[in-house]
Amino acid sequence: MSRLYDTIVIGAGWSGIVAARDLSKAGHSVLILEARDRIGGRARTYTDGMHVPVDLGCSFVHGYKEGNPARDIAKEFGVKTNVCQLTERQVWRSSKPEPPSVEHKLVANLGAARSSAQALAQSASPPPSPLTPLSEALFSQQSPLFADIQDKELAVSFARSLEVPLGVVLEKASLRWDGWENNFAGSDAAPEGGFQRFLEKIVDESKKDGVEVRLGEAVKKVEKSQEGVKILTAKDGEYTAKTVICTIPLGVLKTNAKTLFEPPLPTRRLETIAGTHVGVLEKLVLAYPSAWWPDAAKASPYIHLPSETRQSEAKDAKSVFRQNTFILASFAAPVLPQQHPTVLFYISETPALALEKFSAEEVATAGHEFLVERFAVGSAPKPTGHVLTNWRTDPLALGATTTPSIVGEGRSPLDFVELGKPLWGGSLGFAGEHTDANHRGSVAGAVVSGAREAERVAKYLNKLKET
Ligand SMILES: Cc1cc2nc3c(=O)[nH]c(=O)nc-3n(C[C@H](O)[C@H](O)[C@H](O)COP(=O)(O)OP(=O)(O)OC[C@H]3O[C@@H](n4cnc5c(N)ncnc54)[C@H](O)[C@@H]3O)c2cc1C
Repeated sequence: MSRLYDTIVIGAGWSGIVAARDLSKAGHSVLILEARDRIGGRARTYTDGMHVPVDLGCSFVHGYKEGNPARDIAKEFGVKTNVCQLTERQVWRSSKPEPPSVEHKLVANLGAARSSAQALAQSASPPPSPLTPLSEALFSQQSPLFADIQDKELAVSFARSLEVPLGVVLEKASLRWDGWENNFAGSDAAPEGGFQRFLEKIVDESKKDGVEVRLGEAVKKVEKSQEGVKILTAKDGEYTAKTVICTIPLGVLKTNAKTLFEPPLPTRRLETIAGTHVGVLEKLVLAYPSAWWPDAAKASPYIHLPSETRQSEAKDAKSVFRQNTFILASFAAPVLPQQHPTVLFYISETPALALEKFSAEEVATAGHEFLVERFAVGSAPKPTGHVLTNWRTDPLALGATTTPSIVGEGRSPLDFVELGKPLWGGSLGFAGEHTDANHRGSVAGAVVSGAREAERVAKYLNKLKET
């Protein structure tokens, strides 16, 4: 007979690790079961061929000075963090940058258009239909996006840079709920050594307090039992606990929620899992022997706008770069204390899907050639290292993060509350970025949800002890 744990946590990402740490600190026995052979989930730090470790999932603590709870955790575990400095942003759609006056105008107009869309969502009576996309307000005739800009196409393609943080095309994001969330924002900070190391540190310390971790244990069944919960894994492991906290990402739940739980999840929960959306965001990192691109010592990011009309089927990977909007971060600029000749493309939904039919090698080569062409430098050293993420097809993520509420009848931020509600009288809990309405899609959402579930489960366990 296996040991009866107070709690089994499924998943060793931010939410699972925070939940496990809090519960063990409160004196409860905890086992973490993680399907991957590493800690971190969507916190993944890459080193092969890189000058310094580069984060392929989360890379910033957003709202660092504005109260993000990850800041206190960094302090507690002695993880050094550096606040990002603002550097010069440049906008490129040909072989020379747009003049600063145009860049300022584009930024100001997009800010005004977003504020105007959010004011409409908040104050219009009747409110916008749940079927109205954000694009309809941003791209309307009267939108502040186009104020004093002759070239509407330029403004529209610049607005598409919003699709990077949203994880979804503007035509799918709901106007009605835009700006509803109250997430941490303002200053950004990055942990030295990367996010995965940060989490490994928490796990190492938590193990000293008794938290057990089994890697390579994919949970395939969660059953309600007499003791509380029985868990079966793909390797025929069988574990029992009084409670379980499931942090399996929403993208994965979309494929297995119907069969994972016994008794099955209620219909309303299954409908919410099916009706919410997981977004796309990929990263392409190119490490170079030297920083050869223009203004490398001072500029980042470079917003690259399309120079060609988008084709439904791009003929090669380089065309995808020419036909879409990309945010290119440069680590050669003094954003963080340590500069190095590396660039990182943030790849939003449309180009990410178009690039999927090419190999990582082809995409890296195309990204490099595109930059040489766009920056018109004639020649440039070849990258000495590269990496392309595949969060959308990674079977343990199946997407980057949840997106804001999407267009659709009945969809609202309440969906994320529903995804976090406990079941089975409290013995089955849910955490993860997708379960926190205000902070979904972020490290903060994962941390807040892990802490929330740990607190709830601790109360539940204490009650069990009393009876
Ligand atoms: C490209 C990208 C960039 C991002 N940038 C930022 C950023 O700069 N700032 C920010 O705040 N957020 C960012 N995020 C979001 C942030 O990374 C996530 O919100 C957060 O890491 C999610 O943590 P989680 O614990 O909810 O999920 P995860 O980290 O995904 O953890 C869930 C764990 O469950 C495991 N699992 C799945 N199925 C099973 C199973 N059957 N059995 C056992 N284990 C299982 C998974 O392997 C995983 O380890 C980014 C995300 C991506 C993808």
